[in-house]
Amino acid sequence: MSDAQSVPTPRPGRREVLELTRELLRIDTVNPPGNEREAAEVALAYAKRFGLTGSLQPIGEGRANLHLVLRGKGEQAPMMYCGHLDTVPLGTAEWTRPPHAAEVDEDGVLWGRGSVDMKGGLAAMLVGMTTLARADVPRPADVHFLATAGEEVDCAGARAARDSGALEGIASLVIAEPTDLDLVVAHKGALFLEFVTYGRAAHGAMPDQGVNAITHMMSLLERLGALDLGLAAHPVLGGPTLSVGTIQGGSVVNIVPDRCSAQVDLRRVPGIEHAALVVRIEELLEDLRSTLPDFEAQMTVTGDYAAVGTDPGEPLVRAAGRVLEGVLGWPPEVSGVSYFSDGSILHPGANLQTLLFGPGDPHLAHQTDERVPVAALERAAEFFTLLPLAPATS
Ligand SMILES: [Zn+2]
Repeated sequence: MSDAQSVPTPRPGRREVLELTRELLRIDTVNPPGNEREAAEVALAYAKRFGLTGSLQPIGEGRANLHLVLRGKGEQAPMMYCGHLDTVPLGTAEWTRPPHAAEVDEDGVLWGRGSVDMKGGLAAMLVGMTTLARADVPRPADVHFLATAGEEVDCAGARAARDSGALEGIASLVIAEPTDLDLVVAHKGALFLEFVTYGRAAHGAMPDQGVNAITHMMSLLERLGALDLGLAAHPVLGGPTLSVGTIQGGSVVNIVPDRCSAQVDLRRVPGIEHAALVVRIEELLEDLRSTLPDFEAQMTVTGDYAAVGTDPGEPLVRAAGRVLEGVLGWPPEVSGVSYFSDGSILHPGANLQTLLFGPGDPHLAHQTDERVPVAALERAAEFFTLLPLAPATS
């Protein structure tokens, strides 16, 4: 509450975040192919009306990132708001309401693909920035806005932004993935591995004449599952996990298979580096080669997304906690999530304080009938308006 002397608290205009989210939802950015450029142009046109500057970064045909800046006084290090423009496909089940019509139901819930993941969060960040741009309040730091293409498939937009230096000088990063308005300070990383074991074909009636690639794969996966990652469980994420996603081998029942392949999804927690883990698995393969007769296998890294973790005591998390408590009226929950985000690409090596915060139930992301309460969008927009004004040091 402000008195007559103090600076008034900036507030987003009524329905502003709803209208911008609806505009973005009506643009189909299902990835593949993505088609994010049109949504980026809509966001750019909206931002320019309020004096923000920025530009598109093309990422192939019909695709683009958007990078905007709202200048501050430079008393604090710049922060960045980040979100992705693409969505996952619609799935095969029928939707109760059309996925690109952006309908609001009688309970004040907005429906559509991307409402939760994450055009609602994206619009809330942008409305926060334009509200600040209009308000007559001193802004301690520059606030950047990065809307990326491609997050749902390969993080191509985040990689391009990082490689072009968009993160330079940025001290803190807030990604508007759906967290149900909780503060998420850590997420797991993913290491996708493909293994191929090799054998020697033989008649199924004479297996001793061949080398069975499937049997070797079973030995490999058993050893891999028992691999001690040597880590205490992370305080908010728990331990790493391993899941065998695919396995293929053999052609017919009466031939000893000479090839077997399997894909493994390893979800990692902060504290273990990808490179160190790959070395340990290479050592495991080497051990199998020396102990199992005729064992031969190859490993390929097919996906590498770093884990992200920020200490809850860091200034960004504390400032966000105070602001959010004011918006919600109760202390927010601080937690971790298993999915990864553009933070996997933007965070590593940059020494960024990173936070995930956004409207919407994460369980509704990637689902049929994805939908978000308008009230959650409004609270998020309020949070994104006030966060850049919060002192980051106390
Ligand atoms: Zn997302």
